[in-house]
Amino acid sequence: MAASSAKAASSSDNIPDYEYVDVNTKVFHIDSFRSEWLSRLKPEDFSHKQEDDDVFDARFAKEMGADAETMAKLKAICSLDSLCCHPEDQRSDAETVPPNSTLKTLIQRKKKQDLKRPQKVSKNRHDLYADELESLALSRKPNDAVDVVPEGEVILTINVYYPAVYDKFNHNRPHMTLLMLGSHNLTQLRDAICCVSDLQVCGEFSNTPDMAPDFISKDHFKSAFFFFEGVFYIDMRFPECQDISMTTIEWAKTHNFPTYSQAKMEDTRFVDLKVKVGFPYLYCHQGDCEHLVIITDVRLAHANDCLDKKLYPLLTHKHRVSTQKCAVCHVFIGRWLTTKDQFAPSDPCLFCNKCFQMLHYDTEGNKLGDFLAYPYVDPGAFN
Ligand SMILES: [Zn+2]
Ligand SMILES: [Zn+2]
Repeated sequence: MAASSAKAASSSDNIPDYEYVDVNTKVFHIDSFRSEWLSRLKPEDFSHKQEDDDVFDARFAKEMGADAETMAKLKAICSLDSLCCHPEDQRSDAETVPPNSTLKTLIQRKKKQDLKRPQKVSKNRHDLYADELESLALSRKPNDAVDVVPEGEVILTINVYYPAVYDKFNHNRPHMTLLMLGSHNLTQLRDAICCVSDLQVCGEFSNTPDMAPDFISKDHFKSAFFFFEGVFYIDMRFPECQDISMTTIEWAKTHNFPTYSQAKMEDTRFVDLKVKVGFPYLYCHQGDCEHLVIITDVRLAHANDCLDKKLYPLLTHKHRVSTQKCAVCHVFIGRWLTTKDQFAPSDPCLFCNKCFQMLHYDTEGNKLGDFLAYPYVDPGAFN
């Protein structure tokens, strides 16, 4: 991260220093770190206004110690025109790649074009979506001036990992990456985290399959906390919320652990936090669904960042989980799990909604035969 260059400039506690090299930093207070940056930089360094070309050239020449003549030469050599590979009197066409080019960029472009042709395998929707996420973010400006990310705002990159419920997750660590602003509350991160356990519908619904979607765990069990540096940040926005960190705090007291404290998730902004960059913290919801949360970067917003506040928390990466298909049609994603099911080829067995209904109910919706049915939410439902 950018902190290492500033490290030498001061021995302040609020400038992140590595605790373990290339792993995580020591603890620092995010807002103080932001102030340190702002006090060292000139306003134009973090301004969102695009510098005009002449000012940029003058600054560049000064920093490089180049005179006007060298600058003019450099500009001519590095100009985009020098990259053209077509005769001067022809219009350039980015789609036409000259044959037998040895230029790496053109070889790559040719490859990409070949891939796009219909007879070849085209990009799947997940890759297209990932590209879209990325391009959404670039230099995006809001329509309304009140939605602009203020100059000097902090942007945090946060990885939220999937709970290690499957063996394979112990070897690779799928996660989503979100960009958050320093002024965001922790609750905004919580609401941006997609986890299937929030969508689980608990219960057996073979007698009333149409009732099932009315209950979602997130609506019923709203308690959750983040754990950063000895503090449990609990979500207390709703009357149903419970303080699920108290058991741990009390247990720690009686077992000679350091004392942990509490704060409210909804009252805590990211700039208020004291954290280590690169260190694994915890997000816990639905009682025992535990996700590692790692802040991988803290930096000032730049003119080329997405400057539309409304698009934050900005999702920039999302792991793709393979979906489990219906055991009958092998086409649609599983929505129902049945057990003790005389019609099913296996126990338990997964069905899409259509196959489930057709196989288990008559045209009037009466249950046929004996089975137990549980609504199933596929982990790939968020792909
Ligand atoms: Zn979860
Ligand atoms: Zn099906």
